[in-house]
Amino acid sequence: MNDRRSVDLLIVGGGVMGLWVAKRGLEAGMSILLLADAPNATPKGGSANPLGALMPHAPDRWGDLAAFQFQALIDLETEAARLEEETGIAVGYQRIGRLTPLRTEAAIDETQAQARAAAENWRTADGRAFTLAHRAIRADDPIAPAAAPLGVRADDLTARIAPRAYLSALRASLTRGGSIHLGAQAVELAADHVRLATGETLRAGAVIVAAGAASFALLSRLTNRAEQDLGRGIKGQAAIFEPPARIREQLAGAPMLYAGGLYITPHADGRIAVGATTERNWRWADRPDAQAASLAAAASALCPALAGLQPSRFWAGLRPRTASRMPAVGALELANGRSLWIATGGYKISFGLAHRAATALIEQIRGDEPSAALPAAFAPALALTQRPRKHTSV
Ligand SMILES: Cc1cc2nc3c(=O)[nH]c(=O)nc-3n(C[C@H](O)[C@H](O)[C@H](O)COP(=O)(O)OP(=O)(O)OC[C@H]3O[C@@H](n4cnc5c(N)ncnc54)[C@H](O)[C@@H]3O)c2cc1C
Repeated sequence: MNDRRSVDLLIVGGGVMGLWVAKRGLEAGMSILLLADAPNATPKGGSANPLGALMPHAPDRWGDLAAFQFQALIDLETEAARLEEETGIAVGYQRIGRLTPLRTEAAIDETQAQARAAAENWRTADGRAFTLAHRAIRADDPIAPAAAPLGVRADDLTARIAPRAYLSALRASLTRGGSIHLGAQAVELAADHVRLATGETLRAGAVIVAAGAASFALLSRLTNRAEQDLGRGIKGQAAIFEPPARIREQLAGAPMLYAGGLYITPHADGRIAVGATTERNWRWADRPDAQAASLAAAASALCPALAGLQPSRFWAGLRPRTASRMPAVGALELANGRSLWIATGGYKISFGLAHRAATALIEQIRGDEPSAALPAAFAPALALTQRPRKHTSV
């Protein structure tokens, strides 16, 4: 066996989850090696998506998950600022809020119930409060009046970040003390080592599986469970607009728009990201197809400023979707009594909470007192087996 020097943490996968686990490990004084199968710094996997929406959990279905997600969204403001200061890379974070068009009386009633719940639950320990409300459409809202006949649900908690810049900053922060092994594909996992496609074996105190949609195949071999019972990759596509200066100015600082699964996210650099599609079956996971082209028409109908513009490019990739749709974060007990650690992103919510999930995971690995207890549903034994719960984003 050709062994390399052993490290404390060996992380398989360089998406938003793996990078944050590596960063938290380094901050805790551990030696880390992150394996990324991409041959260069251009990220592969769901985390390379251009949307970067940081959405809150519905305030009227409060529990450990909603509270965790809320605190994570609050903390990310500080984390993003620290990361920018540390690396000099602007990550495009801003709390821009979100507008959702309302079309029915029932949607207004639901919004009013959520508004009351937000007043109670969207509060920080230091007295900051965030709101969600039903209101009439305003002249400067970037939303088509015809799309919102009964006004909008408006919140001021939703934020956005530029995913690629964010990943670059995370990678840059690891260069001080950590190692990233590019072009390294893990093919076999165990509690204390990983075997690469090259045949090389790497040893570690703890192995963390953060391989996104590929995690399920890797874990299937270890657990003797069918891959599709653990989770699956769901293809998602997005369109990127680079509008002319006049439209950029109009949309600068505008809130995110959300309707029926369609997000329109104005980014700090003037680009507008639109997505996402959802496909269970596909021929090429990372190639945009006709579904992506349909996003442009849907975006123009919701946001008149985009009418007549063509996207400058499209993007496609796989989201990891565990059996329960929840992120899987924590220990997975193996038949030999040892633990393998999992940090595989939630279906649509990872960007807002990866930093906090990573804190909790490193505390678990080290046996430290938890400062950020994970929601019960993130436990791999549940996330990789339970059926999905009702949709809970606002
Ligand atoms: C179109 C689209 C839009 C989205 N929009 C949002 C959004 O707005 N907000 C949000 O929070 N979430 C969004 N998501 C979901 C989000 O992207 C994922 O939940 C998140 O990226 C998962 O992160 P991850 O680190 O678990 O997995 P990934 O980002 O997939 O990272 C896993 C990494 O592991 C690598 N890898 C795989 N196998 C191996 C191996 N054997 N060896 C070594 N490395 C390996 C992969 O190449 C990849 O780089 C979106 C997803 C899509 C597809």
